[in-house]
Amino acid sequence: MIKTTPQEPKGLYLETFGCQMNVSDSEKIVSLLREVGYHTVDDPGTADLILLNTCSVRAKAESKVYDYLGRYKVRKMRDDRLIIGVGGCVAQQEGERLLKKVPYLDLVFGTHSLHLLPELVRAAERGERRAVTDFIDTETRLNLFPEADDTGAVSRFVTIMQGCDNFCSYCIVPYVRGREISRRSAEIITEIREMTARGVKEVTLLGQNVNSYGLKTPDELHFADLIRRIAAIDGIERIRFTTSHPRDISPELIACFAELPALCGHIHLPAQSGSDEVLARMNRGYTRSEYLATVAALREARPALLMTGDIIVGFPGETEDDFEATLSLLEEVRYVDLFSFVYSERPETAAAGFSDRLTRTVKQGRLERLQRRQREITRDICDAMVGTVQRVLVEGLSRRGDQLTGRTEGNRVVNFAGDPVHIGQLVDVTIIHAYPNSLLGEIHREDETCTGR
Ligand code: SF4
Repeated sequence: MIKTTPQEPKGLYLETFGCQMNVSDSEKIVSLLREVGYHTVDDPGTADLILLNTCSVRAKAESKVYDYLGRYKVRKMRDDRLIIGVGGCVAQQEGERLLKKVPYLDLVFGTHSLHLLPELVRAAERGERRAVTDFIDTETRLNLFPEADDTGAVSRFVTIMQGCDNFCSYCIVPYVRGREISRRSAEIITEIREMTARGVKEVTLLGQNVNSYGLKTPDELHFADLIRRIAAIDGIERIRFTTSHPRDISPELIACFAELPALCGHIHLPAQSGSDEVLARMNRGYTRSEYLATVAALREARPALLMTGDIIVGFPGETEDDFEATLSLLEEVRYVDLFSFVYSERPETAAAGFSDRLTRTVKQGRLERLQRRQREITRDICDAMVGTVQRVLVEGLSRRGDQLTGRTEGNRVVNFAGDPVHIGQLVDVTIIHAYPNSLLGEIHREDETCTGR
């Protein structure tokens, strides 16, 4: 049955879960589907196509997908022209099973199948239900790296690698995103040059493990060299990257923090635990003292560096002493922000077979203690910024629309009163108040010196 004609304007409602890689993939989805006549809408009630770009890194994120699908069931029952699809990591993990579990679902596309989406949507318009989750070969993957869309933004994400070979024992990423692959540096540099010509001032280099960029590709640049080449591009004011593996922070990358003003003074460096025993069972490939030595070297290179991190609480076998070691890591590192979660068992991973599980109460209690302490540290660091002058790249209007908003070098959001003419510019701002998630500022007087970090 033909459900729509190609000429009809059609609405796409896209819900994105999880990490920046998914956000970047969603941009690609929007641009691919625009070519076949779908335009984004804000209300799922008016959409002809509803897509969920999913995350399966924790069980909670996965179950959310089923909750969302449940919300759209009634509408689908009333209007069978509505197309519902699931992509991303849950789609990759479940494949055909998802079509069986959710009988009103029309299409499933895995992490390597984005390019097939227009074809799958066309098939769904004809009433066909399909699931595509095959991993594709390296050469094809290299030719399909998502290029950023031209949205007029001053700050853009640029995917430089995909997949991961690390197999941390708790992590599903290598199973749902595939093996590590580095995009060609020449292509990355060309893309960033084109972006700067359109007014982009800041790029965030994206990948599951960006600092292993190029290590497994003969004749390719390594990560630090790539950063140096990008810093030399005319018009690039700021470079960020995420996510990094502590084991792959090279001396050359640390030197970039000392030598390249365009490389922002912020790093997200997931420790996951402060206990050597737990780190070994997680298969992280570093010890607590090696992690701390890396932090010290980074701070020596860039004294004002702000750090964020990830911690998993309640990993199988984590003792009270192990947890105390994690708490003390917070004191030593002093992250400005921390993404912390209780351990979540994921299918296929090595840790799913570990027996010494902790109770939900123990895990939850430890998470609350950790988060309470982190909130205090965050507040102390942000309070200390009050009175400093921060260089802010102005990205646009604040959510309320009555102020400008941008980020410090250390990646803290700052809102301040100012003329929209500053959008896209670097502006020095005096911080006058610190909120838990943002800073309030005012444009600095000319006679003040920038003390920002
Ligand atoms: S480095 Fe470890 S945690 Fe990060 S994506 Fe790879 S396997 Fe997962």
